[in-house]
Amino acid sequence: MGVSVLAQAQLSANKQAIIASVEKHEAELIKMSDQIWANAEIAFKETKSAEILASYAEKNGFKVDRGVAGMPTAFVATYGSGKPVISVLGEFDALPGISQKAQPTKAPLKEGAGGHGCGHNLFGTASLGAAIAVKELIATGKIKGTVKFLGTPAEEKFFGKLWMAEAGVWGDVDVNMSWHPSASTKADVQSSLALVDFIVEFYGQAAHASADPWNGRSASDALELYTTGINYYREHVRPTVRIHYHIQDGGQVVNVVPDYSKLWVRVRNTDREGMMPVYEQVMKMAEGAAIMANVDYKVSLVSGLHELLVNRKGGEVMQKNLELLGPITYTAEEDAFGKKIQEVTGKPQVGMDADINPLEDTKEHPGGGSTDVGDVSWNVANINLGVTTAPKDTPWHSWAVVACGGMSIGHKGMSYASKALAMTMVDLYENPAKVEEIKAEYRERKGDYQYKAMIPDGPPPLNKD
Ligand SMILES: [Zn+2]
Repeated sequence: MGVSVLAQAQLSANKQAIIASVEKHEAELIKMSDQIWANAEIAFKETKSAEILASYAEKNGFKVDRGVAGMPTAFVATYGSGKPVISVLGEFDALPGISQKAQPTKAPLKEGAGGHGCGHNLFGTASLGAAIAVKELIATGKIKGTVKFLGTPAEEKFFGKLWMAEAGVWGDVDVNMSWHPSASTKADVQSSLALVDFIVEFYGQAAHASADPWNGRSASDALELYTTGINYYREHVRPTVRIHYHIQDGGQVVNVVPDYSKLWVRVRNTDREGMMPVYEQVMKMAEGAAIMANVDYKVSLVSGLHELLVNRKGGEVMQKNLELLGPITYTAEEDAFGKKIQEVTGKPQVGMDADINPLEDTKEHPGGGSTDVGDVSWNVANINLGVTTAPKDTPWHSWAVVACGGMSIGHKGMSYASKALAMTMVDLYENPAKVEEIKAEYRERKGDYQYKAMIPDGPPPLNKD
C-alpha cells in the first residue's frame, strides 16, 4: 500500500528507506509466507518453515545460529555490532486439523492437515522483512547497532520461547519487538493471561467389566470424579480464572474396567501470582479423585506462561509510526472477501477494520488469550503490535484466519507489519534516550521478580504430541 503524500513529507529519509526496502523484498516475502502457509507445520515440526526463514536471513547477510536451546527449529539471525541490540520475534507454527483454501467459505486445502489459523506464516515473514530493512540501513552506516531476528518455534503448544529464555537469548538485547496478526491494527498495550499446562494420569487395574468388576479399579472413574470436582470448583474462583481440560484417554472399550486415563489440564488467570493458588488446588484435587476411585495418579508439568509486561513508552513510539503509515486500504474484492467470511461465520457484514485509533489505556484485567511473548517480556523490554490480517470479528484459530493468511488481505497486513516494526526500530537506533526510557519502564514493572521459566527438567518436549 502507498503512504499518503502528506505522511510521505513527514517521513525521515531513514523511514523512507525502510519502506522502500520492505517493498523491494515484498514479492519474496509473500512467496515465503505462502510456502509456510501451505506447509502448515505444527509445533516443533516446523522444519521446512524455519529453514525458509533462516536461509533467507542468511542470504541477506545475517549470521544464523540454528538449533538454539536444544530445539532444531529455533534460530537466531544476527547482523551488525555494538549497541543498541534490538531483536524481533518470528513465529511460524500452525494449528492441527484446520486446513483451508484461500477462499471465504470453509473448504480444506488438504483434509485433516494443519492450517495457519493464528497467521504465524505472516508473523515470521513480516518480522524477518523488518529485520532485513533495518540491516540494510545499518549496512549503509545510516544507523548503528545490532539487529536480531529470532526464529521462535512451537508457540501454539509447548511454548518454545521458554527454553530460549532459559538459554539467555535475550541476555544482551536492549529492546525486543513483537507483533501479531489480528482483526484490527494497533500498538498493543494490553497484557495477556498467565497459564499453566499439566498432564494428569490415573492408573487403576483392568478387569472384565461384567464377569469380575470387583477385581478392577477404574482409571476412568477417577477421571470422571476429577473433572466433576473441577466443575464444582469453578464456582469458587475469581471471574478472571479459566480452567480447561481435554480428555486424552478415557479407556478404550466398554467391556473392560479401564486401567489408564489421561487429561491435559490448563489453568489461567490475569497474572502468575493469581494463577498459582488455583493451580495448586486443581493439582491437589487429582489426589482426591485417585483416593475415591482407589487408583494411583501422576501429575506432570508441561509448561507455564507468564502474563505479558506491557511497555507504554514503547507503545507510544509504535503508535506514532502507525499514524505515519495510516490505515491499510483494501480493494472492493478484498472487502467482499471479508464480508463473505463475516456472512458465513454469522457476524455483522462490516468488512475490514484497519483504522488507527488513539493508544488505548492498559486494562487491569485484559481477558483474551496467552502467549509465550509474555515470558520474553520478563526478560527484556518488549514492544507489541497488532495488524489487521482478517476481517473484523473473525473467529480466531479457525479456517477463516487460514483463508485470509493465504491471500492479499494477509499479505497486506504482513507488509504493513514489516514497515511498522522496522520504522519503530529506526526510532530506537536513532534515539538512545528513548531506549533508556523504555528500559526504565521495563525495570520498574518487573521490580525485583527473578524470572524462571515454568518448564520441567530435561530437554524440550520435541517428540511429544
Ligand atoms: Zn498466534
